[in-house]
Amino acid sequence: MARSYVHEARRRVGPKKARIRPIIERLAIDHADAAIALRFENPLELLVSVMLSAQTTDVNVNRVTEQLFRKYRRPEDYLAVPPEELERDIFATGFYRQKAKALRGTMQMLIEEHDGEVPTDFDALLRLPGVARKTANVVSAERGNAQGIVVDTHVRRLSQRLGLTKQEDPVKIERDLMRVVPREDWARFPHLLIWHGRRVCDARRPACERCVINDLCPSRRGSGLAFTHGQKVEASKPRHA
Ligand code: SF4
Repeated sequence: MARSYVHEARRRVGPKKARIRPIIERLAIDHADAAIALRFENPLELLVSVMLSAQTTDVNVNRVTEQLFRKYRRPEDYLAVPPEELERDIFATGFYRQKAKALRGTMQMLIEEHDGEVPTDFDALLRLPGVARKTANVVSAERGNAQGIVVDTHVRRLSQRLGLTKQEDPVKIERDLMRVVPREDWARFPHLLIWHGRRVCDARRPACERCVINDLCPSRRGSGLAFTHGQKVEASKPRHA
């Protein structure tokens, strides 16, 4: 029985390759201000902000970096203070010991291998201590050189709801998205999903009735189909991640 609902919803919204452009275009109009919420003025501040943003909010990071970036302007500044002092300065972002260690390791490598500059090469970014794929993706995208698609909790949820992926693992989700999202949109696509997720497609209460892409979404409230953790389920109203 559930299978017929799956087919019905898929038939109603059409294939993802045909839906992706209108999805992007409409979200771009609805969230014209969608952009990274972290505040930074140069590549080093961008890198540090993204590294600090793990497991906390962008608002929280901005609060900390407002002071931090006055004190730490160059990679050398992060190594010139005792580790405990750096830990104290980033304490409010959480996981401060791991983050301070990653920052110090990264600054050391920037000085030794990149003349104190943040590399533009994606693989070089990935080699920096504590810099995982998501961080490298955000930094590359913000510098106009997107090499992949950032997958955070909003991107994961919305990609699943929109039927763009059935995966749970961020790397596999990114791979699915890279196959369907046009390359020129790799940088802005996650921002559009993030802002749509915050403003409309809430994790618990998606406002499907005022969603500008509800005719393109197989998980639309009342569609009789939901994608929960990538699995198709029959439902009278969507159950969401
Ligand atoms: S129709 Fe509903 S579930 Fe689909 S994207 Fe819009 S708000 Fe989210």
